[in-house]
Amino acid sequence: MQPAISVLGMGRMGSALAHALLKAGHPTTVWNRTPAKAAPLAAAGAEVAASVRNAVAASQVVIVNVSDYQATQSLLRDKEVAGALEGRLIIELTSGTPDGGREAHGWAQRQGARYLDGAILATPDFIGTEAGTLLVSGPSAVFEEGRNVLGALGGNVQFIGEDPGLANALDSAVLALMWGALFGALQSIAVCRAEAIDLGVLARQWTATAPVVEGLVSDLIKRSAAGRYDADAETLSSVSPHYSAFHHLVDLMEARGIDRTITGGYEAIFRRAIEAGHLHDDFASLSQFMGQPA
Ligand code: NAP
Repeated sequence: MQPAISVLGMGRMGSALAHALLKAGHPTTVWNRTPAKAAPLAAAGAEVAASVRNAVAASQVVIVNVSDYQATQSLLRDKEVAGALEGRLIIELTSGTPDGGREAHGWAQRQGARYLDGAILATPDFIGTEAGTLLVSGPSAVFEEGRNVLGALGGNVQFIGEDPGLANALDSAVLALMWGALFGALQSIAVCRAEAIDLGVLARQWTATAPVVEGLVSDLIKRSAAGRYDADAETLSSVSPHYSAFHHLVDLMEARGIDRTITGGYEAIFRRAIEAGHLHDDFASLSQFMGQPA
């Protein structure tokens, strides 16, 4: 018999989490601020709680997935609800900041509850599949307690560390990488449109170029971890050719009136590194110039 779980929040992600728990055989109680969104879960076999307090009382494990930590606080930091949390395991899967996770962990401890903070690196369609990735941080003994439940939500559950802020911290770091690619794609699309290049051609080129980009990113992370900033025999490219090619892009964008807000940021980082004497160093040397404001 699988342990009973309560899930607060039946948005796109919360609904996927509850469906995965049901599929794994967990008796599941759900609650949502807008009750109609819980109806498909009721049809799938979940109990629908009439209040947050009832949902918390129904299970030893309470998963929260609402839009942000403020919403979580408005649900849990009610006197009656907080009183019912004693002895429960709270798994917060709402996205948030590292400090938000740390503060929530401290608050949960003061209510006599155990707490894990998780970040979901997947869209709802990946939940409950082998490829579903969840980052989790908090006390390791509590993680062991929650491991089975978390395993029902995704096949790739990673314990990031005891500090409850770490899952959110790594989530933000990975999102920074993702948005680098997505905002880069927006610039590519603008350039293609301005130069009348069919976007199908760009799509094919991305397929061909993605492995090269992946290799460059992996190399950048590896060299930054080792502090190998000087150019050496294994350097793929120094700052100098990147900076020249970057200026071809900037010139084209200027000529075609394309928004250069993003490239303005790139320019500032290039300039900081070049002024500090890194023009002929490995591109990884730029990583030293990101930990400071412009
Ligand atoms: P969503 O579909 O917009 O759902 C938001 C949920 O939060 C709804 O259940 C909503 O209730 C609830 N909510 C918002 N404010 C509330 C409040 N003050 N009190 C009570 N409930 C409140 O969003 P989602 O896509 O499910 O995302 C939920 C969380 O998962 C977010 O933290 C998001 O960053 C994270 N996440 C999502 C994805 C994704 O691909 N969707 C991926 C990774 C992480 P109502 O139905 O009553 O409005």
